[in-house]
Amino acid sequence: MNFQYTEKSLEWQRRIDDFMQEHIFIREKEYDAFVSQNLWTVYPELDQLKALARQKGLWHLFLPKSYGDLSPGLTNLEYAPLAELMGRVLWSSEVFNCSAPDTGNMEVLAKYGSPQQQNQWLTPLLKGEIRSAFLMTEPQVASSDATNIETSIVRDGDEYVINGRKWWSSGAMHPHCRIYIVMGKTDPSAARHMQQSMILVPAETRGVKVVRPLEVYGNLESPEGHAEIELDNVRVPASNLLQEEGSGFAIAQGRLGPGRIHHCMRLIGAAQRALDLMCARVKERQTFGKKLSEYSSIRQDIARSRCEIEQARLLTLSAADKIDRFGSKEAKDLIAMIKIVVPQMTCTVVDRAIQAHGGMGVCQDTPLWKFWTYARAIRLADGPDEVHMYQLGRNMTRG
Ligand SMILES: Cc1cc2nc3c(=O)[nH]c(=O)nc-3n(C[C@H](O)[C@H](O)[C@H](O)COP(=O)(O)OP(=O)(O)OC[C@H]3O[C@@H](n4cnc5c(N)ncnc54)[C@H](O)[C@@H]3O)c2cc1C
Repeated sequence: MNFQYTEKSLEWQRRIDDFMQEHIFIREKEYDAFVSQNLWTVYPELDQLKALARQKGLWHLFLPKSYGDLSPGLTNLEYAPLAELMGRVLWSSEVFNCSAPDTGNMEVLAKYGSPQQQNQWLTPLLKGEIRSAFLMTEPQVASSDATNIETSIVRDGDEYVINGRKWWSSGAMHPHCRIYIVMGKTDPSAARHMQQSMILVPAETRGVKVVRPLEVYGNLESPEGHAEIELDNVRVPASNLLQEEGSGFAIAQGRLGPGRIHHCMRLIGAAQRALDLMCARVKERQTFGKKLSEYSSIRQDIARSRCEIEQARLLTLSAADKIDRFGSKEAKDLIAMIKIVVPQMTCTVVDRAIQAHGGMGVCQDTPLWKFWTYARAIRLADGPDEVHMYQLGRNMTRG
């Protein structure tokens, strides 16, 4: 067991950090101001930043070595600290083509897509030319249990006809979103885990209706957004099905692997930045004749936060390492553990940083409120905490 980053990992960390210092942090305020005033519009300098990152080789680093030629050659363990660095500015992962939900969708296409599907959708996603969404959750059923999904996918000659209603389709409001991966049922009479399939639906298809964008604590999270979408007799070629009928659940499980620990990796970065901001702030401010940093309660908050971040970071690295060595299935307990621990830890740490900032902590002058809403939403978006605990507890008491 070695707790040191390798030279290779440190070199990649330096490269990402240099890029962030040179190009991202200086644009943070301008980016926030732009997106708050220009709904569903991409920040004008984003394409330029993406081109620069790509030119420097800082591009889709998330795609692990196991994907062969498609991958830039990093392991999940090597990628984790890079995602952490990106997590300090939430929109920065798109600059490096490492943003959700595209990362998970690219992995699905790379792993399960046919050559034709890959050519049509994976290639432009890997180039960062288009964005994508993953449509599983439905308003009318408890979707933390994916077997409840009701959307129907019915074969009709050379086509499939899709009917259903989805919501919380992250990224679907983005002006460049072109493709949805839709989960639904091809055979409701089959065994419970064989009823579902996944199918590719181009966003422009007739019958696709974006009903409304959803707000997260009053924020539309433009330009990606989260959409409610109606699928009304949507017809796509039969060749749009991913793998064969009934494989949707297995693909969903596969998607829960690396693509789904990226949020945890990024959240560690958000928590670390919150703590760094807190430390800087409490050294500056004074009440009742003392600097805030001299109060025991503040020091305890800082000390606890440092411990909790480091615990969560090591657990996350351990999960990444286990995925690399043994695969997502073998790493499922560690994956569940970080999903239970990391978003909650981030909420707690960010909340302490908010408190130490006083009124400034809840306004737009720091990224803290965004970190908090992101971490809070991930406690649902990445599967509710309780479901990960339910599954981990079940694994521990089996047999
Ligand atoms: C910001 C955000 C982004 C999202 N992005 C996407 C996306 O891109 N694509 C997509 O398909 N979905 C997305 N989701 C949806 C997310 O995956 C679901 O909200 C989540 O799976 C829970 O499903 P539900 O909302 O139907 O809640 P329900 O299934 O109704 O569950 C409600 C609550 O019941 C409790 N519960 C459930 N099961 C158990 C259990 N076993 N033990 C104890 N308590 C339990 C939990 O507290 C849970 O929060 C997103 C959600 C959010 C908030």
